[in-house]
This record gives sequence, structure tokens and C-alpha cells, in this order.
Amino acid sequence: MDALLPAIAGSRQATALETLDRLGSNPPQVLLLEGGTEAERMDAARYWACRLNCPQAAPSPCLHCPVCRQIACGEYLDWAAYDGRISNREDEDNPGSVRAFNMANVRELKARLRDALHGDGRRVVLLMGLGLAREEAANALLKALEEPSPTTVFVLLAPQREQLLPTLISRSFCLTLPWPDSRREDVGIREWEDMLAKFVLDGTGFLDKTALKGSVDQDVASRLLLSCSRTLCRLIAGQNVNALDAALNPLDAMGKLNASRWLEEAHEALLYGVTPARVLQAFAMRLFVLRRQSPTAQRSAKITAPRP
Ligand SMILES: [Zn+2]
Repeated sequence: MDALLPAIAGSRQATALETLDRLGSNPPQVLLLEGGTEAERMDAARYWACRLNCPQAAPSPCLHCPVCRQIACGEYLDWAAYDGRISNREDEDNPGSVRAFNMANVRELKARLRDALHGDGRRVVLLMGLGLAREEAANALLKALEEPSPTTVFVLLAPQREQLLPTLISRSFCLTLPWPDSRREDVGIREWEDMLAKFVLDGTGFLDKTALKGSVDQDVASRLLLSCSRTLCRLIAGQNVNALDAALNPLDAMGKLNASRWLEEAHEALLYGVTPARVLQAFAMRLFVLRRQSPTAQRSAKITAPRP
């Protein structure tokens, strides 16, 4: 497992994998995997496909045979993956093993669902990045998700189920992977957290500091984004322990969802080589505006405003 599905190696996801092993004897038509990190959700989905297709699954997949290996690298013929975050342009220019979740691809997929299987297991269709904006393509698939099929099962991935259309959630068997440890603090990044918290409140300091030549490198940027992830996890769990938590606490549920979406975009921008300072500045400005717009923050601003 270490080599094949590294994100779920070790004991952290062991209970979730046991659940998948058990579910495999009577697989739900739609499985929703939430929680964990993005890499853990992805590897758990691959594990599920291995569970349903590995000829030696008894009940755990072997994770060594050719079927398991092909699934792990996205080349198995009864495996298809779609991501709503991939643009149509990217999909046309460079179609990878994960395709864009758009109407054209959904139509093609629906036609494919009628084809016979290549192997002896189940066809597994993975859907991720299904933010609420992908309603049209998701609705086009609803019927397929609804009708029990002897050949095909679907897996939906989302950080939290609330990020999906309620119609999708109600059709799904939900499995929550353990969340990333939200209590672990990165003390080396505390100063940056405090600066970001101050900026979210009053719009000062952070941009000047990040604009200084050499002040932000890839390491600082990705650690600060990680600590923002932990802040959002804590807020969702109703905890509020540091300055950044306090600054973002007034966000309503929609605000927290937006923040976590932008956080994923910021992580991606870093991965694709955007200048770390630019990534942090753009993210900080979005948080600043978001907090200004949050109903709770507006209410408390009104209370403290001097009367004429
Ligand atoms: Zn196998």
C-alpha cells in the first residue's frame, strides 16, 4: 500500500478502509467520501475501485496485481474520473486521465455506461470538484446516479458534503475520513498568522510585508495556507483558539465554504508555480472582502458605530 496508495498508508485511515472492505460486498450505488485531505480522498476512492475490481479482494484488495496497479495510475478501463475544477480549455488542450466535468463529457460518459465492462468487477466513476456551480452537468447525471446499475457505481469526493447539491447528498452513502489534525499548531508560522488575522480585520500590514523582496517563499506560503486550512477545520468544529480563528469566526456557512474553495485554489496556484507572495496577497484580499460581507461582522460593526 505504501507504494501504490501512499496518502492512505499508515494507520490514520485504517478504519475507513475497513469500512470500504465491508461495503464492497454490497456496494452502494453512490459513495460520498468527505473529510481527510484531498490526496487521502483521492487514494480512498482508488482503494474503493480496487476493492470492487481486484480479483484477489478477500475482502481487502491485494494492491499488487495488475488490476490494482492500473487503477492506482488511472489507466484501468472500467475507471473514469471527472473534476469540475478542470476548465474546458485545459481538457481539450491536454486531456489527462482525469477529465473536465462538463456537459460534453457527461453526455459521452452516459453513452459509455451502456457498454459492457472490460473486467469482471464494477465500473467506478469518480466525480470531484462538484462545487454548486456545476449544477447543470450534475443534474444531467442525476438519473444515472439514481438508477441502480449492476455494472456501475459512482464515487463523489468533497471536503465537506455541504459543498454538494442536496440532491446529490441524498442519493449517497456518506463516509467521513478523519479530518486533518486541526489542533497541531505550526508555531514557526505564528507571526504570519497574526499578520493575516490583522489584515482580515483592518486591511493593513500584510500586503506591505509580503511585497518586501524575499519575505515570502514557497515554504512560508504553503505553511500559512495549511494553517488557514486548520483554522477552517476548527471553525467548522466550533473551536476558536487563535487570532486567525477569531478573525474568520464571523463568516457564515457560505463564507466558510467560499474560503475553503479559495484555499484550494491558492494551494493549486502555488503548485503550478505562481509567485508565493502573489498567491498570499490574492487570498488575503479575498478573505478581507469576505469578512466585510459577512452578516455577523456587519451587525457588530453597526453596534460599535458612533451614533450621529
Ligand atoms: Zn489486486
